[in-house]
Amino acid sequence: MMKYLIIGGVAGGMSAATRLRRLDEQAEIIILEKGPYVSFANCGLPYYLAGEISERSDLLVKTAAQLTKRFKLDIRQNSEVTAINRTDQSVTVKTAQGTYQEHYDRLILSTGAQPVVPAIEGLDSAQHVYTLRNVPDVDQILAQAKASQKAVVIGAGFIGLEIAEALVNRGLQVTIVERGTHVLPSFDIEMAMFVQRALVQHGVTVLTENAVTAFEAAGQTLVLANGQTLASDLTILAVGVQPATQLANAAGLQLGLRKGLIVNDHYQTSDPLIYAIGDAIIVKQTTTNQDTLISLASPANRQGRQVADVLAGKNRLNRGSLGTAIVRVFEMAGGSTGLNESQLQAAGLTYQVLHLSGKSHAGYFPGAETIWLKLLFQPQTGELFGAQAVGPDGVDKRIDVLATAIKAGLTVDDLPELELSYAPPFGSAKDIINLAGYAAQNLMAGDSQSVQWHELAAAMAAGAQLVDVREPAEHQQGAIPGAINIPLDDLRQRMSELPKSNHYIVSCASGLRSYLAERILKQNGYQVQNLDGAYALYALMQ
Ligand code: FAD
Repeated sequence: MMKYLIIGGVAGGMSAATRLRRLDEQAEIIILEKGPYVSFANCGLPYYLAGEISERSDLLVKTAAQLTKRFKLDIRQNSEVTAINRTDQSVTVKTAQGTYQEHYDRLILSTGAQPVVPAIEGLDSAQHVYTLRNVPDVDQILAQAKASQKAVVIGAGFIGLEIAEALVNRGLQVTIVERGTHVLPSFDIEMAMFVQRALVQHGVTVLTENAVTAFEAAGQTLVLANGQTLASDLTILAVGVQPATQLANAAGLQLGLRKGLIVNDHYQTSDPLIYAIGDAIIVKQTTTNQDTLISLASPANRQGRQVADVLAGKNRLNRGSLGTAIVRVFEMAGGSTGLNESQLQAAGLTYQVLHLSGKSHAGYFPGAETIWLKLLFQPQTGELFGAQAVGPDGVDKRIDVLATAIKAGLTVDDLPELELSYAPPFGSAKDIINLAGYAAQNLMAGDSQSVQWHELAAAMAAGAQLVDVREPAEHQQGAIPGAINIPLDDLRQRMSELPKSNHYIVSCASGLRSYLAERILKQNGYQVQNLDGAYALYALMQ
């Protein structure tokens, strides 16, 4: 009879335990969890903080008693593994009652990640400064939130933004301090700005390109890099996570990128009897095949099942991760899959950018919302590298379709071929995914050539003439300096106003009318490019 020890009883660990049981009724399966709960909903913690999940017990997806009964597991909470003794295949377990050794035939590490705690002056003596990872953390934050008026969230990643929204919903005045140029560092700046705008509209103060350099007055005053000070009753550190691998490191297991655990594609660490999964391990990014760390629940759950399969003798391989993620920030959703521009640049990959706006469902049916989609692809082969989408509705569907497309190795040429479910309340006969495929094909064929929002100033300085093809009333409400206004429907008649010796860039509100103008001008012998994302993106970035 095999004896499995699993360290960490949440996403990856419990998935591994229950799958192991389904495959081996006889095995001894012991789960060692240092916290008071197993199988809890880490992802639900911000929504409990917000009050959207009203019952704390709803966070405890399955209790230890339920899991023990159904899966015949030996679950030991409040049991911290303090050492892995590889020579005698045992671990040392610390409990309130004392310390003991437990033998294993095979050991699975699913120790997760831990919040990064930056070295900030005065942090040691600061009060009411928290990180959020588990149920006891959220209990403390909630208790303090109820007694607070002002909160500061340090770090504007997914967890930081979810907490910021939750605290606003609790009636607090919230400031976010982010070192980077924009919120959601895993998004490209112009896509993140849609979300940043929503935060500001909901009264959140967003301070980017800034950092907290010191805590003063026992944490009630935060000093920023620019000298500004902030009063705070409650401060959240949400500056990212790092693999929780101290235990593995002390046991001499091989670590790599940012101290993540190195595993082979069967999840085996450098010790063949020890396996590891979840946030603690290094995985291969699907497109680049480069090492990366992905702290997300879906890969952790999948890896938990797969490691059990491997241990049961099935040929299951870790095929890497894409890093598909989504966050809700007030009425906006932001979703992403695959690589963003900075990751593509770091990987040395040539890419084409495409921005497109469309509707969540048929525009004539009530409730249609605007989605902005950004597609990144290889300009010659059409290989899909990544996508980001923002909007109040339908973002999840589009990102999931594109994540599936990337995983399946589809190219932009396949996107028009996707037959997506359609009736007016649900989608459009030409979904934004199909449209993105058409637009990408146009770019690849040279039927359309684009200029990005950040390239416009240089192009105009080099002599390009911007032509705004919106209606005069739209132009008057706000226009890009230097643009001349010739509405699309007048363009054929007024073309003689445009000398052919010039280079033109056409723009409209969202990019569709300007594309039509580009086609008219191109077919009349003009040198012309389309401003990708058009005035909407330009205005957002001012
Ligand atoms: P975990 O689920 O974190 O489990 C690790 C467990 O190991 C912990 O309970 C820990 O106590 C235990 N442990 C560690 N060391 C020891 C030891 N020495 N002895 C005993 N036990 C030990 N992901 C998403 O995809 N979508 C989301 O919306 C999302 N939201 C999130 C919101 C929050 C607030 C947080 C904190 C995370 C969120 N995540 C989300 C991330 C997701 O929860 C993790 O990616 C996932 O839980 C990782 O699974 P894991 O098994 O590797 O680690």
